[in-house]
Amino acid sequence: MTQIIRARHVLTGQGWCYDRLLRIEEGIITAIEPIPIGTPFREAELLCPAYIDLHVHGGDGVDVMDCDPGALDRLAIFKAQQGVGAWLPTTVTAPMAEIHQALARIAQRCQSGGPGATVLGSYLEGPFFTPTNRGAHPAALFQEIDRNELDRLIAASHQTLRIVALAPEKPGALEAITYLKQRGVLVMLGHSAATWAQTQQALDAGADGLVHCFNGMTGLHHREPGMVGAGLTDDRAWLELIADGHHVHPSILALSCTCASRRIILITDAMRAAGMPDGRYDICGCAVDMKQGVVRTAEGGLAGSTLSLDAAVRNMVQFCDISSEEAIKMASLHPAKLLGIDDELGTIDIGKRGNLIALDSHLQVEKTWVNGIVTI
Ligand SMILES: [Zn+2]
Repeated sequence: MTQIIRARHVLTGQGWCYDRLLRIEEGIITAIEPIPIGTPFREAELLCPAYIDLHVHGGDGVDVMDCDPGALDRLAIFKAQQGVGAWLPTTVTAPMAEIHQALARIAQRCQSGGPGATVLGSYLEGPFFTPTNRGAHPAALFQEIDRNELDRLIAASHQTLRIVALAPEKPGALEAITYLKQRGVLVMLGHSAATWAQTQQALDAGADGLVHCFNGMTGLHHREPGMVGAGLTDDRAWLELIADGHHVHPSILALSCTCASRRIILITDAMRAAGMPDGRYDICGCAVDMKQGVVRTAEGGLAGSTLSLDAAVRNMVQFCDISSEEAIKMASLHPAKLLGIDDELGTIDIGKRGNLIALDSHLQVEKTWVNGIVTI
């Protein structure tokens, strides 16, 4: 099956090209060529690589932890409406049996495929965290790091576990990082009280970056740079950012771009209330309230976001005075690089999968293609 998509501007791996036609065969981009003169119709004003959302708990009223086989399909469709072509359903701290079941459901959805954005695997966020910076995670369910448990989690995920988040100051963390990396699982650091030195040791051991940088970790101080200081200054660290303007002040988003624009990965960290009206919801088994799109626990802490990834891209352009190309890369090429799949996703180039989005001139999503097929 061959698809043709014509666009006024195409963001390729080499930058913007004007008036190009894409040929997609069996889901793979096989040609990018000038549009023949006299062709009036264009499918897109701006054709860009589809976004990849690494860190998603829920949205559209459902949660990855819901024991409901339809929840992941519903979320996959919801994500595709926001320009996401591939994503990682992300678990939260819960009783281990519930986490195992969620990982198994995600594995099943990976294998079967389904509507909307492609499920690339799972992201385990909790229970290997520190109470000090627990966020919305229930500290009573936090656990010590145990290699046998890591093996059980990987087995429950049928080897589809892509990322484990952990606090690097916990006993056995450095050995766990080395072990997970050997088994092909990435490690992100967060919900942690680690110092700058402890974070450096974790990066030395092979950790890949920081979970929602600034949120749930030791902040920047000029004599103790903390986890944030280590992340901003160490070129090995990928930095997840929640660019909704609430989790991180716009000026700090801009500072992050100055320090590390090539290492920023925009995520949503979205939860059940994303795309829903204000009201009462739940995350990690606790009631939370959404007011004007911001979700807080009873104690007033932020509890996940209601951000969409396309809005995160627009916010970065607005808050940080960066180009749209740079902001789009933070939601496409950068997550693909972290996951080691930039040979097939993350840019528009010959040989890559036809995961694409049509944007208008204000970077609003008009259409999403997954493997060359229009999904919305
Ligand atoms: Zn999260």
